[in-house]
Amino acid sequence: MRRLYEAHAYSDAPRAGCLWNADAGPPRAAFDGPQSTEVAVIGGGFTGLSAALHLAEAGTEVTLLEAKHIGWGASGRNGGFCCLGGGMLSNPQLARRFGQDALAVYRAAEKAAVALVAERLARHGIDADTHSDGETLLAHTPRHMAALRRELPHVAEAYGVTPVLHEPADLAALGISGPFHGGMTIPLGFALNPGKYVVGLATAAEAAGARLHDASPVTAITRNNGFTLTTPTGPLTAKRLVLATNGYSSDDIPGWLRARYMPLQSNILVTRPLTEGELAAQGWTSRQMAYDTRNLLHYFRLLPDNRFLFGMRGGSFATPGANARFRGRIEADFEAMFPAWAEVERPNFWSGLVCLSRNRTPFVGAIPEMPGAFAGLAFHGNGVAMGSYAGRLLADLVRDRQPEAPYPAAFAIPPRRFPLGRHRRALLAVATGALSLLDR
Ligand SMILES: Cc1cc2nc3c(=O)[nH]c(=O)nc-3n(C[C@H](O)[C@H](O)[C@H](O)COP(=O)(O)OP(=O)(O)OC[C@H]3O[C@@H](n4cnc5c(N)ncnc54)[C@H](O)[C@@H]3O)c2cc1C
Repeated sequence: MRRLYEAHAYSDAPRAGCLWNADAGPPRAAFDGPQSTEVAVIGGGFTGLSAALHLAEAGTEVTLLEAKHIGWGASGRNGGFCCLGGGMLSNPQLARRFGQDALAVYRAAEKAAVALVAERLARHGIDADTHSDGETLLAHTPRHMAALRRELPHVAEAYGVTPVLHEPADLAALGISGPFHGGMTIPLGFALNPGKYVVGLATAAEAAGARLHDASPVTAITRNNGFTLTTPTGPLTAKRLVLATNGYSSDDIPGWLRARYMPLQSNILVTRPLTEGELAAQGWTSRQMAYDTRNLLHYFRLLPDNRFLFGMRGGSFATPGANARFRGRIEADFEAMFPAWAEVERPNFWSGLVCLSRNRTPFVGAIPEMPGAFAGLAFHGNGVAMGSYAGRLLADLVRDRQPEAPYPAAFAIPPRRFPLGRHRRALLAVATGALSLLDR
């Protein structure tokens, strides 16, 4: 597999400290070929599992191959913000490029994605430690608070909800104290334990009849009447194919993907459970999931057992040394933002790969050069809801059905290639450096 980062990024090491490892389900048997199936799915995260679940529920034979184990990628190691997002284009940009109606469909899809996860948890009886009533965006400068004030009516219009503005003086009473200049709560979304959600999704897919396999890396895709997937334990032939490998994609599986996706590291640290006294000392007692207005944003939430989760994207290199240096940077940001907890132990630290596209929107659609093959990727670090939703769309598309759920026109446009080919990671270093300067 031709991948973008150092081998360390694709090893078990970056996820070894992940808090959710305790919730990983039982291992599944590796694929044992040769076999054939109606639809093959590559990748056992939210996207692939969601596609498998919907296909199996629709009565379609589906076999999912995961290189490591279910939830091994970003899906089993994220921050658990089940939230709006998935792309990076603003309302004016979307409206200019795709039209006002398409903008409405796009925002409806984001809402539907959150609702889909809530519905799944309820229907399949998945207890995923949910909390938070929507998400809260916190201004890191007075200028950004002014921008939130201006943004409020646009958020209300785009999502058909009533967001609430928090003046700086209101924050303490909300249990949200820190170096913030006010904020805004959008009453859509909730937080969850992603380890429990991904395992619950897999269990539901299997109960519906999907075949899921761990330890089954696809090392080549050959097109014939359908597709033959090569694995170390034999071939799988399939009439149709769903590719759901997101940040863990390879430039050669399939070759069409070459330079069309950009993995980016995201990193999380978690404290030990905080005492009531420690929470009071910092003035943070809220269960709201929150993030700040920086370009290189911090995301954070108080977990149900009073551990505090704090995350940040970035890090151009994925070596043990580079990851350790980035940990130092996050620790410093954490201590600056929550000084009362500067001495509190943070036993958990981990990182993983999210995925960006040059189009700055997710891609959920047909792979042009491969009739019968479809892909869902590039959720721009917000794939808990959107990856799940992409899987649902893919389950329709791969059966030649127009999705009934909102399907934004932007999603169907194949991602353009990034410049610099396999050296494109250099673009990230330049972009994150510039954004970091803007954030000062
Ligand atoms: C630290 C971190 C924090 C995050 N926080 C949030 C958050 O709070 N909210 C949010 O919405 N999103 C968050 N994200 C992003 C979110 O986790 C992802 O967008 C989402 O999980 C993507 O799901 P996926 O199924 O598309 O891909 P993944 O979960 O990454 O799964 C892809 C899978 O494909 C497998 N694979 C790759 N190649 C092959 C092959 N050739 N053969 C077989 N299998 C293969 C990989 O092993 C991997 O398991 C975060 C991500 C990280 C890393």
